[in-house]
Amino acid sequence: MIIVVSGPGGVGKGTIVDALVKRDPQLWLSRSWTTREQRPSESAEAYVFATLEDFERRISDGGFLEWTEFLGNYYGTPTPDASDHRDVVLEIEVDGAQQVKRMTPDAMLIFVLPPSREEQERRLRGRGDLDHKVLARLKKAEEEEPIGRELADHLVVNDDLDETIDEMLAIIHAARR
Ligand code: 5GP
Repeated sequence: MIIVVSGPGGVGKGTIVDALVKRDPQLWLSRSWTTREQRPSESAEAYVFATLEDFERRISDGGFLEWTEFLGNYYGTPTPDASDHRDVVLEIEVDGAQQVKRMTPDAMLIFVLPPSREEQERRLRGRGDLDHKVLARLKKAEEEEPIGRELADHLVVNDDLDETIDEMLAIIHAARR
């Protein structure tokens, strides 16, 4: 099963997917490639931080399940290892989610919404990005939200983190059954 977790920036997707794979050993988290620079606050394991040249080479080698450009950088999901029989979790933006749903209609998309714009902005600012980057991400989030709502199999509002994780695990377990 492919589980796509998407949602506007600042909604807490990263924290959620980390908790999901910790709680459910049948899940594994795909590690994306990006050409974005590593944030000072970010672990080196958060992505494969690639050069544009390496990223483009992997595109031409057909090594991505999906990839997109997001606010001036490339992001892509390496083609998952078919020999791993656990369910894969992809934490990606809506364009990538649309590509995955087109290719594999059985993939389940959980779209996460922020409890409010104010909270979303507070979370985005908390990452230490520069002001113009925060504003660009907020604008992008507004564009992404209606598309994600339309595409989603399940909508979850991330108000209380523990409740959100419980709700998402319940959705995943129900889908497995
Ligand atoms: P960030 O720069 O905040 O880490 O990520 C920006 C956006 O790219 C987020 O919405 C994140 O979910 C998304 N993203 C991360 N990895 C991938 C990927 O492999 N493919 C796509 N399409 N989006 C990704």
